Amino acid sequence: MAVKSVALVAHDNKKKELVEWVCANKTRFAPLQLYATGTTGKLIAQNLNRTDVNILLSGPLGGDQQIGAKIAEGEIDLLVFFWDPLEPQPHDPDIKALLRIAALWNIPVACNRATAEFILTSAYMTDDNHRSQRPDFGDYTQRSLPA
Ligand code: PGA
Repeated sequence: MAVKSVALVAHDNKKKELVEWVCANKTRFAPLQLYATGTTGKLIAQNLNRTDVNILLSGPLGGDQQIGAKIAEGEIDLLVFFWDPLEPQPHDPDIKALLRIAALWNIPVACNRATAEFILTSAYMTDDNHRSQRPDFGDYTQRSLPA
């Protein structure tokens, strides 16, 4: 099976913590395909010295929604999203939408370093045959509606 893909997002007050954690786990991240919102992605690429980070738009400019779309399309195996619990964000609806779509599609989500650490060190991360179960929404898509 293909390598696992991780999406990384951190609000401004949480970027330092995310970059520090990613750098502390550089070896574990080495085989992983990375996606990130614009500013987070630039920092990760610089600090990991990687040119293969898929850097999307900045979160407030649509980057969160781009990651949400990739989750819906089955391209992301893990979302690490260090959102800021102390500061309101202009793109709050996008943040909620991203968390919703990750819950909907049964993607593991880490919103803080402790959870990220548990997930990154899980045996599933290095098991090429393991993928989180993708829900079957057949009943919903096939539902009958009044004409
Ligand atoms: P950024 O976006 O990585 O471009 O700062 C993160 C966010 O605020 O959602």
